[in-house]
Amino acid sequence: MKELLVVSGKGGTGKTTIVGTLAVLAKDTPLIRNPVLADCDVDAADLHLILNPATKESKEFFGLKKAGLDRDKCDNCGECIPVCRFDAITSHNGIIRLDPISCEGCGVCYRVCPRQAITMEDFIAGHWFVSDTPYGPMVHARLGIAEENSGKLVMEVRREARRIAETLESNLIISDGPPGIGCPVISAMTGVDLVLIVTEPTVAGIHDMERLYNLAKGFDVEVAVCINKYDLDSETSADIEGFCHAHNIYVAGKIAFDERVVKALTRGEPIIMPRRRMSSGAQRTSSDPHSLPDTTARAIEELWTKIVVRLY
Ligand code: SF4
Ligand code: SF4
Repeated sequence: MKELLVVSGKGGTGKTTIVGTLAVLAKDTPLIRNPVLADCDVDAADLHLILNPATKESKEFFGLKKAGLDRDKCDNCGECIPVCRFDAITSHNGIIRLDPISCEGCGVCYRVCPRQAITMEDFIAGHWFVSDTPYGPMVHARLGIAEENSGKLVMEVRREARRIAETLESNLIISDGPPGIGCPVISAMTGVDLVLIVTEPTVAGIHDMERLYNLAKGFDVEVAVCINKYDLDSETSADIEGFCHAHNIYVAGKIAFDERVVKALTRGEPIIMPRRRMSSGAQRTSSDPHSLPDTTARAIEELWTKIVVRLY
């Protein structure tokens, strides 16, 4: 079984659109058996907007334990207030208040309380879901507001995706990765077979790509790059290709900017699907809102073909 992770330095590069489209193509690729999808962008999951999943199962996700207050035992002595570095414990009119959102679960108040009025309790930090999509099962998640531990939730999503893939004897998991290079992306990247970095021709895009490449190199994971909207700045696109060439990074695809792609996205559809639907009979017209230029569809299909060759 292979795992493909698609990442980008920040939102807005088109990463999730590309993942959604690769999911459509994977379903139609004879070499790929029962693909499984994982949305590891648990802080801002949006793959479900494109793939329209039907949720079959929902599970609670417990992050770190948090402090809970037993009012019957608490005498409001206030000894716990100064030891909380996160200002989660306050006193109002002599009554102690504990804010679970600010609590970071360090447990210091639990240790200092002379009346054992504080307990460390499991706290639901989010949920993860197993859903059906027309392109295969998908595991996705939602982290609670202001909750951390997204790296741990990413691990849960990946574990479940792998379990489903093994049950279905799937040979591919496609994951939509978290942005940045922090804990969540590290959780998403460890042990995958190929990282596809989606970048765009901007100074920030190059910088983010370099950071992701260095991270992947640290985990000894193979990297490929896709330059999205490459035609918006040919000089910077050439710089990206130059960097890739110098570091022996495979440039798997270049996709031109096309605002009809954005319109297709707002309709909640993968961008290659309209082309396939049209090919089943009807003629495409330039005024059809579902119509996409062949160059865009072809560029993504070529990207997919190169990824498959790289993986298998
Ligand atoms: S230290 Fe314990 S008893 Fe004192 S205010 Fe805090 S929770 Fe209440
Ligand atoms: S567990 Fe730590 S962060 Fe939470 S309320 Fe107690 S001292 Fe503050």
